[in-house]
Amino acid sequence: MGRVFVAGSINMDVVATADRHPRIGETVAGRQVLYFPGGKGANQAVAASRLGAGTTLIGRLGKDAFGAELRQFLGDQGIDLGYVQDTAEAHTGTAIITVAKSDNTIVVIPGANGLVGADDVGIVPMLKGDVAVSQFEIPLPTIAAFFRRAREAGAVTVLNPAPAQAMPGELLALVDILVLNETELGFLGGAELTDADEAATIIAVARELQARADQTICVTLGKRGVLALAGGEELVVPGRPVKAVDTTGAGDCFVGALAAQLADGVPLRAALAFANAAASISVQRMGAGPSMPTAAEVATVLG
Ligand code: ADP
Repeated sequence: MGRVFVAGSINMDVVATADRHPRIGETVAGRQVLYFPGGKGANQAVAASRLGAGTTLIGRLGKDAFGAELRQFLGDQGIDLGYVQDTAEAHTGTAIITVAKSDNTIVVIPGANGLVGADDVGIVPMLKGDVAVSQFEIPLPTIAAFFRRAREAGAVTVLNPAPAQAMPGELLALVDILVLNETELGFLGGAELTDADEAATIIAVARELQARADQTICVTLGKRGVLALAGGEELVVPGRPVKAVDTTGAGDCFVGALAAQLADGVPLRAALAFANAAASISVQRMGAGPSMPTAAEVATVLG
């Protein structure tokens, strides 16, 4: 069985709830303050670890209270944190979220995540059969260095290019499996895609984006499920009919679950069905980290 290596962001999400948002220069009394472990890297590592994969996270925390709290939380999830450094040069990545009348405003400060460098990923002991996962919340040159090292080791590379930003062709060429939603596909493929687009339209944009003939592109479509272009083959995994209460972290659950399955040697089609089922469980619960299911829960859904 291979391991999952995730190089990515670790944040504390600080959520303030109030009856209304303050105007510029105004102070309003809030109702509650909540602290949630977050960051795409951490969320995806939590998903993979809860599903039973040996999981190593590579990243940076500040030498502050949030850093200590996040290290404790992630360690409790069974994640290997031997490659998560504490840095004195920046604070722990933090998202300040204000929620009022179900509208939110978010300010994200990358902090230590912005300092994850090629040296951090250069020493990671990956082997053939391992899975290397990253997202766009750490510097892109670091991701490229991580994937170069993974490919040298014979590990599979999985990129979730979120939040969307322009990507050098050199980085895309290092990706074995690209996992993105239709908005991100539209951005990278230079097309206007909406959640009403037909499969043929989405696959055509994915085919245009494909950097290598053997590259896999998985497009997550929310409640519609997943479409994938695997080399020349098209795979369709329909969404599972569930009552969604909070879709925060659904994409992260999907990526972590897919990586865990691939590290376990499961073929792509079955791994996608598993990840689709795992993500459909996560949307029925509140939050990102705490909503990630266990392998037993996914097995129950798959029957
Ligand atoms: P993101 O959160 O990155 O936008 P999506 O919304 O596409 O990602 O969701 C990722 C995956 O989560 C989907 O492919 C699907 O498997 C699952 N999912 C998301 N929303 C729902 C839903 N309402 N019902 C069932 N499954 C869902």
